[in-house]
Amino acid sequence: MNTLLRIAIQKSGRLQEGSLELLKESGLSFSNGKDQLKTQARNFPVEVLFLRDDDIPQYVEDKVADVGLVGENVFAEKKKKNQIVKRLDFAKCRLSIAIPRSETYGGIASLHGKNIATSYPNIVKDFLQKHNITAGIHEISGSVEIAPGIGLADAICDIVSTGSTLLGNGLKEVETVMQSEAVIIANPELGPEKQKILDKLLFRIEAVKKAKNNKYILMNCPNESIEKITTVIPGMKSPTIIPLGRPGWSSLHSVVDENDFWEKIDLLRECGAEGILVIPIEKMIV
Ligand code: ATP
Ligand code: MG
Repeated sequence: MNTLLRIAIQKSGRLQEGSLELLKESGLSFSNGKDQLKTQARNFPVEVLFLRDDDIPQYVEDKVADVGLVGENVFAEKKKKNQIVKRLDFAKCRLSIAIPRSETYGGIASLHGKNIATSYPNIVKDFLQKHNITAGIHEISGSVEIAPGIGLADAICDIVSTGSTLLGNGLKEVETVMQSEAVIIANPELGPEKQKILDKLLFRIEAVKKAKNNKYILMNCPNESIEKITTVIPGMKSPTIIPLGRPGWSSLHSVVDENDFWEKIDLLRECGAEGILVIPIEKMIV
């Protein structure tokens, strides 16, 4: 029987769509993912299991799945022997401590003796210990943000992205406990065949991730500024330079990082670049 790498992803929720999209962009094709408990890729030795995200670290440790796609927060909370093998740049959020807006915050020491409601008791315990704080931890599985309002706790520790949920519940964020993003975790003892499939998949995922973080850029520029422009956008090795019919001008092609994109555009215009075109990249292999 041919070896399949079993990948656990969230059945429904914030990670589900991004996880499936990532696998599809990595070239894996599935018949109809959503309503099944598992599905096999048509063109790659992978089987996908759809599970609750909280259960994924345990399943990966028990080798029911080989690999899992979870939020780093869930990985950190469950404390299993799995390893993070790739960070995925989506589902970015943070775990924070929040208190009622009406209270003044007297620094981390003011959490001493308080009751904190959370779905992440292990992470909160480690955080408090690190700061030498003794506080009660009240574990609840959902709707954590209403706990102070109903007298269940003095503070909460929960996922925050924009902060609007906190605001809506009369809370304010006072400490960041950890930053999180979607990650791929793997059982550390996969064996050579599964490891080979995983390496192949990770290579593709890296190409997709790089492509998302970069743009292909083309522009016309005067020949005397080519050297300067090359220092601004060095590209993967060096830019491609093609002479134009217009004397003294060239077309220059390169790759630019999404994060400092606007800053680079300003610099390029200062160098005399014209007709700048920016194009998304689908895959990028360096
Ligand atoms: P399940 O039913 O599978 O247990 P859940 O309700 O625990 O799902 P979701 O709310 O779908 O989980 O969140 C899954 C993960 O997505 C979280 O563990 C976190 O890493 C990330 N996440 C949650 N909320 C946000 C947010 N507002 N912005 C970005 N990422 C988020
Ligand atoms: Mg969950």
